[in-house]
Amino acid sequence: MPEFRADLHCHTTCSDGTTSPEEIVRMAASIGLSGLSITDHDSINAYEIAAPVAQELGIRLLPGVEFSSIFRETSIHILGYGFSLKSLPLRTFCQRHLERRKNRNQAILERLKKEGMAVSEHELADAKPLDASHRHHTPGRPHIALAMVKKGYVKTIQEAFYKYLGEKGTCYVPGEPFSIEETIEIIHQSGGIAIIAHPHLIEKRSIKKQLLSMAFDGLEAYYAKFPPWEEKKWVQIAEEKGWLITGGSDFHGEHKPYITLGCAWVNEEIFNRLWLHYKQHE
Ligand code: AMP
Ligand code: ZN
Ligand code: FE
Ligand code: FE
Repeated sequence: MPEFRADLHCHTTCSDGTTSPEEIVRMAASIGLSGLSITDHDSINAYEIAAPVAQELGIRLLPGVEFSSIFRETSIHILGYGFSLKSLPLRTFCQRHLERRKNRNQAILERLKKEGMAVSEHELADAKPLDASHRHHTPGRPHIALAMVKKGYVKTIQEAFYKYLGEKGTCYVPGEPFSIEETIEIIHQSGGIAIIAHPHLIEKRSIKKQLLSMAFDGLEAYYAKFPPWEEKKWVQIAEEKGWLITGGSDFHGEHKPYITLGCAWVNEEIFNRLWLHYKQHE
């Protein structure tokens, strides 16, 4: 039997990935993954297209999402897994995030315009090739960065983030802040599990410490380019707290070409724990 591997963190064209929901499931099958969770930013739209393809290919597709939240002026990503895709609170929450993104994009574009770098909203939609999932597409900062590269304002996406769009950039706008507490609450109401995404990326020690005392169910200990000692550290923290451990690549397609699907994954035991939870709350 080939080794069981499940990638629990990846993005499609429904948020800021460049691979469509159908393609990503086909890609997962072609590299021999047995399980997958698509965790688009603030959106579960990919599942409508991805679920039948996964069924056809025999891939176990676990519902997932990556919500943006703000805690003490710091952006914190929260992964939700195993919720019901029909859940009204979760769907309403995604809709509210969509509104937040629209308003935020407008505010960022206004700032860019003032700095002599006009980008129109339809140029964000053009920032990736059209495909069947395009109507579900939620533009964010990576699309703004790509449009800026295309228009010659910056040479690379990294430069766009460093100078203008990143948290320390001159055109950064955080957008309406969604709290961690509310996000966890919505995930739980929907029958899901709430996980701290890539905790190693949180710079402030005091924030990490506070997060560990919140109502999360687990943390993401396996991640692309995580050094083994970081993995060990987070596995140990999760075990001490009796928390679940998750992991995945955070694949974004061409937006992050150095990360491949399946480069970080969880084993069958971890996957089954989440899967069982999902089946009990489906
Ligand atoms: P948004 O959800 O619109 O705030 O965009 C966040 C996404 O932007 C992240 O998930 C990353 O994919 C991308 N991102 C954030 N910082 C950078 C950076 N410095 N360089 C490239 N991409 C970034
Ligand atoms: Zn992203
Ligand atoms: Fe993230
Ligand atoms: Fe992500």
